[in-house]
Amino acid sequence: MPKKKKSEVKLNWKTAYDLLQERQSLQRLSTKTAIDELIGGGLEEGTVTEFYGEFGSGKSQICFTLAAIVAGELDMDVVFIDCEQTFKPERIAEIARNRGYDPTKVLQHIYLIQPLTVDEQMAALNSIPETVKPKLIIVDGATTLFRSEYIGRETLAERQGLLRQFLKQLKNYVKQNKIWGIVTNQVYQSPDGTIFMPLDQKELSVGGHSWWHMVDDRIFLRKSTGTKRIAKLVDSSMHPPAERPFQITEKGVEQIGEILSKE
Ligand code: ADP
Ligand code: MG
Repeated sequence: MPKKKKSEVKLNWKTAYDLLQERQSLQRLSTKTAIDELIGGGLEEGTVTEFYGEFGSGKSQICFTLAAIVAGELDMDVVFIDCEQTFKPERIAEIARNRGYDPTKVLQHIYLIQPLTVDEQMAALNSIPETVKPKLIIVDGATTLFRSEYIGRETLAERQGLLRQFLKQLKNYVKQNKIWGIVTNQVYQSPDGTIFMPLDQKELSVGGHSWWHMVDDRIFLRKSTGTKRIAKLVDSSMHPPAERPFQITEKGVEQIGEILSKE
């Protein structure tokens, strides 16, 4: 086939106003907690939101809850890529029941893959069955397998390249299909409050890493007292830095108090 002349390349010019109109029609996925207030009312269609934090900070509970909401309330499919083998259908059923959704329907809407290797994780997105039309795609523990398979400084460049490739694939999928995307990442916090990941403490310091620059909104989760957790928006291109509390209950992640706080 003859190569297209430059003049035949279609470019899609629009006004900023048109873009604003398009953006205002985007559907938001509400977490039904004050986390919504951090990100303009909920997760935005076509974007990837990252939740990161220590073990037990509530990353998976947010994933389970949003999966239950999309399946139970919107009656739509969810793809769940569980890279840490911590997915619990019983917990999702509990969340569904306590929110008044049909647990069977919810579980039947959630398509689960539990990759054991980086190769399996990299292949996951391209292997989603055609009959599955996810409205939400979750990658819980997105960097975990990479960390366990690529050990040592000399493997860092290759690993980061693959991670970027994976995230790019995910971003394209989410954007093209106008769906919601979530990734979670485990980090560690030293007593002085510095957040780090093992092995590559320097490279992954806050704000300094290309992976983190590729996600749209990043929310840091930390434990507070008891069931209470704090969500903090970090480095958003659109929203001011702020933090809001939430709690983990039989309903999954839940608002603290009745009314969303106003500012
Ligand atoms: P991570 O950030 O490591 O993914 P999780 O999202 O799994 O952490 O959150 C773990 C927390 O959720 C624990 O503190 C646990 O007490 C709480 N949790 C787990 N299951 C339930 C439940 N059924 N009811 C209330 N809290 C729960
Ligand atoms: Mg988890």
